[in-house]
Amino acid sequence: MHWLLLMDLDGTLWDHKDISQVEPPYFLLKEGILSNEKGTTVRLYREAVDFVKWCKTKGAVTSTLSWNVERNARLALNTFGVDSLFDEHAIDYPTDKAELLLKVLQRLKNKGIVIHPRNIVYVDDRKIHIERIKNKVGEVIFVNIWGDVANYEEAKKLVQKAIFGG
Ligand SMILES: [Mg+2]
Repeated sequence: MHWLLLMDLDGTLWDHKDISQVEPPYFLLKEGILSNEKGTTVRLYREAVDFVKWCKTKGAVTSTLSWNVERNARLALNTFGVDSLFDEHAIDYPTDKAELLLKVLQRLKNKGIVIHPRNIVYVDDRKIHIERIKNKVGEVIFVNIWGDVANYEEAKKLVQKAIFGG
């Protein structure tokens, strides 16, 4: 059985709320913290990275799902050294997230990987995209991180139950 993990980036994988506004180039200030020349810093959430790795050990296909300037987001992922955690990337602005997700599903389908909406886990710190995703894609498993789902330990429990039945 294939399942898909989708990770939002701003406020979900790292603490900055809009990487599109953080002007490159970026450099690593220290482990898990990047900066640009203006001194803006972005902190990677280690627990989010652990969560993605845990999902991979559980067989997840992984993708970003981010409303951003792709170049900035990919540079940040590379600077943190976490770009390769993701099998796919879906980063664009202003294309809506439901459309981005449909494109990911099509790319996977072209590789022979068909994923049912109930086997999609979508992690986002904001709820603004979930209705369109439900309308266009179906009843995915939504993890509203830091909101309805308090932290990534809770997210693991939710995924364990929803994907593996306990
Ligand atoms: Mg976000």
